[in-house]
Amino acid sequence: MTFERQKMNRRVVQDLKKRSTIGLLFYIVLSFIIVYADDYYLRHASYTVAFLLANAGICLFRLIHLPITKKMGERYETINKGIFFASVIVTALIWGMALGLIMLQKDEHTTQLVLTVCTAGLCAGGVVAFIPNLRLSVLFNIGMMTPVVSILLLNRFNMPLALMVFLYSVYLVLLASRGNKEYWYALENEYLLEIKSLEMTRLSNTDVLTDLYNRRFFDVELDKEWKRSGRNESMLSVVLMDIDHFKNINDTYGHQVGDEYLKNTAEILTSVFKRDSDIVARYGGEEFIVLLPEVDIDHALHLAQEALRKIASMTIDHQGLNVRATISAGVNCCIPNFNSRPDSIITGADEALYMAKNSGRNRAVVFTSKSE
Ligand code: GH3
Ligand code: MG
Ligand code: MG
Repeated sequence: MTFERQKMNRRVVQDLKKRSTIGLLFYIVLSFIIVYADDYYLRHASYTVAFLLANAGICLFRLIHLPITKKMGERYETINKGIFFASVIVTALIWGMALGLIMLQKDEHTTQLVLTVCTAGLCAGGVVAFIPNLRLSVLFNIGMMTPVVSILLLNRFNMPLALMVFLYSVYLVLLASRGNKEYWYALENEYLLEIKSLEMTRLSNTDVLTDLYNRRFFDVELDKEWKRSGRNESMLSVVLMDIDHFKNINDTYGHQVGDEYLKNTAEILTSVFKRDSDIVARYGGEEFIVLLPEVDIDHALHLAQEALRKIASMTIDHQGLNVRATISAGVNCCIPNFNSRPDSIITGADEALYMAKNSGRNRAVVFTSKSE
């Protein structure tokens, strides 16, 4: 079963519980009203006690089972689902049996009428509540109606009523089947939308060529990390990199080779800056930037030099020629303070990168503030 299917099935069970829990209170209240309405409890004390105990017992069991299921968690999911389904069927059977048996009693027209109306209502309510799972919905319907129909038929007591109950049951099944289709259609659309929305978010944060994060995402993350590191008074480092004489690669070998070079560079960067917290992004055309939370300047410089080394030794085969280039880096590190803006760390890294370019390229330079 796919992960999405599993997620949907779990959601269905949750929905079933939510949809049916409210009904339990009605079951309890109605059972008392039924036996009280025409003083039925005075004439049939043992029936009354059996009905009230069975009905209240199963309802309370279902109410108590809900929080227990939550506590037990996913490990006992299957067994708890089985208990829930079984308890639903038992509830239906109790009502079906009660109606069937009371139908056999002589001179109990008022109670029979009240119970018939209540059972019809509860059955319709249950069938609609269990629409997310058609099998449960149908079983509930059968569980409630079969005892009534069989008792009425076996005793040849009331054929028209038995037929009516049967037709009512069939009508509910058809209704549930339609509702079930609509429920699943809506649920699948909801999940499809969720997947699409996640994919859209991923795409809007990703650079198409290199599959790295894009500048937009980087800026948002820098803002968050600036605040977080500021609160924790922890180090935040940035490495800004720019491929050296990249224009020459494009001009000499063509744009496609240039694109391939950018992709390979991105792969090397993600292999060097590989902590979960590292954010490697394409900052511009042939510029890359890395955000390194809780990394000090020495470590950041060490990683930048490793990346430079790997990139310098990387070659791309183009018509038998080895295309190679180098990259320069500016490294900056600080403990953010709330008086300065997040882009101040980039400005420093950019100045260091400028120095790296001016002092011969293929090197990493650490930013040092002139006021220091
Ligand atoms: P420097 O060492 O001073 O950085 O020199 P440079 O040639 O790398 O810098 P310049 O800014 O002159 O050129 C950058 C080049 O990067 C020009 C542009 O065509 C190329 N470029 C930018 N984005 C892409 C891209 O997505 N694909 C390819 N193939 N080239 C790109
Ligand atoms: Mg550039
Ligand atoms: Mg360049």
